[in-house]
Amino acid sequence: MLKKIDHLGIAVHSIAEARNFYESVLGLSCEKEEEVVSQKVRTAFFVLGETHIELLEPTSDDSPIAKFLASRGEGLHHVAYRSDNIDEQLQQAKKEGCKLIHEAPISGAGGKQVAFLHPKSSHGVLTEFCSGGKQ
Ligand code: ZN
Repeated sequence: MLKKIDHLGIAVHSIAEARNFYESVLGLSCEKEEEVVSQKVRTAFFVLGETHIELLEPTSDDSPIAKFLASRGEGLHHVAYRSDNIDEQLQQAKKEGCKLIHEAPISGAGGKQVAFLHPKSSHGVLTEFCSGGKQ
């Protein structure tokens, strides 16, 4: 079952350049920065009540985020829903005919388990399920 929006993922060219907007204009504070080597991405999490804004910066030209930036530019990259059971969530999505990017959860930032649905199956919004880690 889904519990809440865990975070919104936003693709940026440079966290160093983008963070000023989130800190100085919106007044949010950065909880942590972390590189996720398997995803070829650097992340920065900004706290907003019960949810977070996750900035995503590519660490390599063949990073999925680099491809996203090249085709769509900076902007909303994914919506992440916190689930109490990702496997069940994935099975349900598959049963309903959704294309999955991950058949099983993988390790994401912050010690979370994450899995993505293909945006073609979710009306243009890349959809992430996550569980574990710090809420
Ligand atoms: Zn995410």
